[in-house]
Amino acid sequence: MIEFFTDSKEKLDLYKDWIGKAKNIVITSHQNPDGDAFGSGLGLWGYLKQFSFENVTFISPTDYADFLAWMPGIEHIVVFDNKNKATANELIENADLIFCCDFSSGSRMKDMKDNVLNSKAKKIIIDHHEQPESFGDLMFWNQHASSTCELVFQMIHKLGHGNLINIDVATCLYTGLLTDTGSFKFDATSPEVHLIASQLLAAGVVPSVIHRNLFDNNPFEKLQFLGYILIKKMTFLPEYGVCYISVTEKELQKFNSRSGDTEGIVNYGLSIKGAVMSAIFIEKEGIIKISFRSIKDFSVADLARDYFEGGGHKNAAGGRSNLSLEETVQKFLTLLPYLKTQLVLQPN
Ligand code: 5GP
Ligand code: MN
Repeated sequence: MIEFFTDSKEKLDLYKDWIGKAKNIVITSHQNPDGDAFGSGLGLWGYLKQFSFENVTFISPTDYADFLAWMPGIEHIVVFDNKNKATANELIENADLIFCCDFSSGSRMKDMKDNVLNSKAKKIIIDHHEQPESFGDLMFWNQHASSTCELVFQMIHKLGHGNLINIDVATCLYTGLLTDTGSFKFDATSPEVHLIASQLLAAGVVPSVIHRNLFDNNPFEKLQFLGYILIKKMTFLPEYGVCYISVTEKELQKFNSRSGDTEGIVNYGLSIKGAVMSAIFIEKEGIIKISFRSIKDFSVADLARDYFEGGGHKNAAGGRSNLSLEETVQKFLTLLPYLKTQLVLQPN
């Protein structure tokens, strides 16, 4: 499904009317933000800041990990935590327009969900996740897009403002393009992705700097944690082409693991010869957070949706479980015989 409000004259006129009258604008993205969530939200923020609205505020439903801390504009983000909740709610209540970037399911806004959904503001969803819910008044949506950053880039161009993509906006958009394509290697890396990357480079982006900021800024303990996981906690089941990892809260504490330190570990499972799916189960604050990755046509979005209260994309999805860590892994393992045909039938 593709829906670009900019392609319908009627919807584009609505947008122009709303944005023309808007005084206060809120931008938000999903909890546990990744490079695309903040890249698209901050890229949009940097673009909108160039117009004369009274306030354009980015509110993040949860705090962010250290690997994003260098992003341009991040110091202006309001995190919806106990300290800022009252201010954030007031901003949401007074907003005329709310942009929702990189999610299309209300629950991804965590505790902010009801405030945003009940706000009088018009809501504009910019996203590439499967099966969007219907809370958006306008959509800029393409489930085949590599990233929401790709969509923000296209939206700005369709609105005729390509000249407003300055170095900071370009840096943010490049970040999501890079992280959501796994550094330009996933299937969603279309010719369009490279064309956009080329224009972002022309706007001043230096790829090596962004790559280093994102991936080569690790605390030493994070690498030790990774080493421990790879040696002690990873299981590969060659008969299914499935790799899985489980991590207890105690282990996170032992390695002083901070929010975001487990990001990306799941991808190691897919680098094993013959792997079709990789999963990581992380025990945190009483629930089990799950990340799934796959290759080719095996849909982890279906798996996450059908069995683990989640969703996402065909090859990258997430979910949760209220069972214990052991029970959750057991549930996953008992599903594998039923998924075997789909798993082993993936052509090389
Ligand atoms: P991650 O494993 O990195 O947390 O998420 C992988 C992809 O799935 C991301 O695009 C993320 O937005 C999406 N995702 C993660 N958890 C959920 C969830 O609970 N529900 C839905 N709909 N998508 C999710
Ligand atoms: Mn994304």
